[in-house]
Amino acid sequence: MNPDYPLPMNIPQSFVIVFLAIVGSCVGSFLNVVIYRLPRGLSIVHPPSACPECSSKIRWFDNIPVISYLILRGRCRYCKTPISPRYALVEIATAVAFVALYDAFYVMRMHSWFGHFPLDLPIFIAHLVLVAILIVCSAIDIEYYLIDIRITYVAFITGLICWSITPVAKLAQITKSSVSAAVLAGLVGAIIGFIVRNILLSKKASSEQHEGEEQESFTSTKSQQKTNLSAIIFLLLYLAGAIVIVVSLVSANHSIESYKMRMWGYVVWLFLAIIAGSVPRRESDKEIVEVIEQEKSSARAVALTEFIYLTPIIVGFIVLWSVAKFIPTIANIFDYLLRLRFGIFAPVTGFAFSAVGILIVAGFGWAVRIIFTLVFGKEAMGPGDIYILAAIGAIAGPAVAILGFFIGSVIGVFGICVLLLWKTSRALSYGPWISIGAFVCLLGYNPIMNYLKPAVKALMVICTHSYK
Ligand SMILES: [Zn+2]
Repeated sequence: MNPDYPLPMNIPQSFVIVFLAIVGSCVGSFLNVVIYRLPRGLSIVHPPSACPECSSKIRWFDNIPVISYLILRGRCRYCKTPISPRYALVEIATAVAFVALYDAFYVMRMHSWFGHFPLDLPIFIAHLVLVAILIVCSAIDIEYYLIDIRITYVAFITGLICWSITPVAKLAQITKSSVSAAVLAGLVGAIIGFIVRNILLSKKASSEQHEGEEQESFTSTKSQQKTNLSAIIFLLLYLAGAIVIVVSLVSANHSIESYKMRMWGYVVWLFLAIIAGSVPRRESDKEIVEVIEQEKSSARAVALTEFIYLTPIIVGFIVLWSVAKFIPTIANIFDYLLRLRFGIFAPVTGFAFSAVGILIVAGFGWAVRIIFTLVFGKEAMGPGDIYILAAIGAIAGPAVAILGFFIGSVIGVFGICVLLLWKTSRALSYGPWISIGAFVCLLGYNPIMNYLKPAVKALMVICTHSYK
């Protein structure tokens, strides 16, 4: 392993690492706002942050990530109401995740796509966005057992845009055999099918609108926020560990052995964040188990209905795919689109690459959901989890999403065993485990892909993508 430094103007690598850690903690601070406000239906941008108890505005010097929390000893400056330690936890975890991605992509070159600094910048930024989105989804899932799919749309849009503006030199390297004309045609068909499906669904929804008013109660969150000394001690240790990991990256010799140690550090640190976030007992614990029990009788019917509503997408894909396959004139049109160049960019190829990622992963997710629900007669993997998987597919590609799902399931089983030490609830969130699985996959991309080469090759035939 001989990492060279792909940064312009000889910026020291240690500077970039520290910079990313600080940016990560500030992004984490913003994610906290999203995590708090989105499930409550509040605006993310307005008004400025205030204490939920005494409504005093939070001044800038009380809003410095992690540090302010520790200085205030986890209490509001004015009314002394305990602030949830989750705020500092999210900030540290985001910083660790950002540094870890940089380590994997640029320091250790764990990903054959990365290492050409300006060319792959859009995709690196997309991955940072992805990690931020996964943290938001996981935190909301842990708290309320729901996934706000609006957040995953941000990932779809980011993925589609960032892949579209990736220079063709980089793109050609990633999509060696590229997306074929028939697949592009199929994609267009799937998009048409998706629009048709949404029109059908919106008609269905408007006719059912007055059947059930949404009842959400968030009063439960107040009582749980009892910050105590153990939370502060845990946070101090957690922060110390995070600093050790970052320092070891700055000072390490960048051998594969030292990377293995750091990789453990990154993964264990995010794992701890999930566990620490899941431990407090929530009102929603009981509610979700009741809902699952109630829906048990209709779970199979629901899964079948969902499948019916997916058919326009599947039919759309198959129809246009076959049209392009058997009518050369049509194939030529799509081929022309794929070859479109704007300067150094090939927007259609990049867009299609990301869109194929979404489609493959969504197909995989729905298949798992429908098959498991039909077999076990109980809701397996919520639709929100499929959106998370598809979000990963849009940015990191289908292999990371699907492998991440399996790796995450294994970590999840372990995590749930650990959690059972503290709580007895049967309710589980799947989102955090899918996220950490994808994260592991991103950190160890090359070794994992090499190990799984035979299986990945089979997958590639379906994906029509080829990885090195
Ligand atoms: Zn207050």
